[in-house]
Amino acid sequence: METAYFNGKFLPKDEIKISPDDRGFLFADGVYEVIRWYEGFFYDTNSHVTRLKRSLRELRINWPDADSFPTIATELIKVNKLENQPAMVYLQVTRGAARRTHYFPTPEVSPTSYAYAWSFEPESQLKETGIKVMLKEDIRWSRCDIKSVALLPNTMSFQEARENGLNECIFVRNGIITEGSHSNIFFVIDGTLFTHPESNDVLSGVTRKNILRIAQESGIKIREEALQENRIRFIQEAFITNTSLEVTPVIELGGNTLGDGIPGKVTRIIRDKFAIEIKALKG
Ligand code: PMP
Repeated sequence: METAYFNGKFLPKDEIKISPDDRGFLFADGVYEVIRWYEGFFYDTNSHVTRLKRSLRELRINWPDADSFPTIATELIKVNKLENQPAMVYLQVTRGAARRTHYFPTPEVSPTSYAYAWSFEPESQLKETGIKVMLKEDIRWSRCDIKSVALLPNTMSFQEARENGLNECIFVRNGIITEGSHSNIFFVIDGTLFTHPESNDVLSGVTRKNILRIAQESGIKIREEALQENRIRFIQEAFITNTSLEVTPVIELGGNTLGDGIPGKVTRIIRDKFAIEIKALKG
């Protein structure tokens, strides 16, 4: 039986009951985080906790246990006997359950917190071959920096990509490439690495941040600068980053083959350096 975390307790998952009046259900009024277990440790939990706290603060949800996320996650790995396999932990915190009003509940109610762990099969093949991605108008709201559970534009767009045999949907806002439905995107132009700067238009990815550090340590020139869609023809390489896909090369963007249509040199260097960092952490 799978054990999950719910409001301070570890319970069999099928015993967990969430109110139909929960604002997560009614309004998608909540935030989430996902961390990855590398058979012995979670990667950069500090950054995930910092981002979780920021998302909660921006939505004014008072969940006092954010610092306990790594402890909760470790316990979930243990009780579900996932220590020796790749796994992920998902945490969601909503504003809580109250009669439906657009304004926040008065008096304040306790947030609802829920987390679970699952064994996960890394997509190693895609990291070797690279992926093809679509481009689409960014139909999301203007606070994409908050890791909110309101992901309908993301799920709709990713579904569209999959139905077209593509592995991600990359958004374009006002002619500028922002990020993917569940990833950040990087480009290589004449040896320089570009990615959208931190702003309300993108999620500040934990992998993004670490890749910028690794690129810098490798002496690769970095520009945190938004790229116009009309400059696609100048892109020689691209890759997406997120917690589960790590660094995954992009070989086709919106129907345009990038470079030679195979993972580029800079991309491979960064992908491999990330893998080396993980291996070193495994000890
Ligand atoms: N952007 C979006 C919209 C995402 O959903 C994700 C995945 N959480 C990312 C970027 C990448 O974030 P991370 O590297 O922290 O997984």
